Amino acid sequence: MNKEEILKKFNITKNDVENFDLDFLSTYLKFHHKKEYGKSSILFWGFDKKEVQRLNEIAISSALDIKKRYSENITFICVNKDFNDDAKLAKAKKGNSIVLDLSEFEFIFKNREYNLLENTDFFPKKEISEIRIPIPLSNFNYEIETESYSAESDKTYKYNLYKQQCECKEFKENSDYEKGDLRRLCKHLLYEYKNSFKPINLNYFTLFLISNDISLKRYLEYFSIGELEFPVYVSYSNLYDWVNIFFPNENGKYKVYGYNKLEKRFSYNDKPIGYVPELRSKLNQIFESKRNKTNKTKSLNNKGKTGCGTSILILIIIVSLISFL
Ligand SMILES: [Zn+2]
Repeated sequence: MNKEEILKKFNITKNDVENFDLDFLSTYLKFHHKKEYGKSSILFWGFDKKEVQRLNEIAISSALDIKKRYSENITFICVNKDFNDDAKLAKAKKGNSIVLDLSEFEFIFKNREYNLLENTDFFPKKEISEIRIPIPLSNFNYEIETESYSAESDKTYKYNLYKQQCECKEFKENSDYEKGDLRRLCKHLLYEYKNSFKPINLNYFTLFLISNDISLKRYLEYFSIGELEFPVYVSYSNLYDWVNIFFPNENGKYKVYGYNKLEKRFSYNDKPIGYVPELRSKLNQIFESKRNKTNKTKSLNNKGKTGCGTSILILIIIVSLISFL
């Protein structure tokens, strides 16, 4: 098994794996290679019956679909070293499949525990630990184009999971969050993350968001309520009056409620029965203190500092424009 060869086959750049050992790399590749609609498949060529049986067992325990016939979209083709059907090999190399030899297949798929979340380069520490997510390596460095999810729009957006970048408006609002922070993912990135990268071993809250395709808004706050063991999360943005409230039950299963922070009402009057007064008081704390702060800043400006404040603001804009150019 040659490490450089593996990196080449999976399109992973050397820089990416500098901080990771071979054990990390093989476990990463077993669980996080590009998947079509969440599934990976494998085809074995050139092995005898008994050997195929043994390899099938490894494949099944790695959640690989075993294929008997070649098609372009098979994820992996594992080829025995004395297999000499050149026409087939040429076809495999042209298609989308990753061609592995036996030692590479065993290196990646032989029993491995998923222990990658112990590595902070892959799963970075965050002030709110629940929103950190594993960071895809460069085997996810490709552009995807998607049509806008909105029925009225005919726009298309390009996005890239490795760079964690998208062209949509939602991404722009949160693009300053670093990689590995769930708030950075717009709904397009979130969808690709779920289906192609397939994160595993997530906490209840992150799992809820990802499996239900709910991206986070700009700000996230959390607090505990009553006897509930798991926190309540509130996700909101200054651009919208509607807020998402993620409310747990006693087992850590979350439900999302819509709440209008200006009108102080729940969407469709759907609210977490039994906790409403306490929840309302927490929400008032968040949104009323914010409103007061905004008013205070405004009144300060009105007391004669407006002129000075405005010219500083104009100066900042000019400086940023120059540095941008
Ligand atoms: Zn997007």
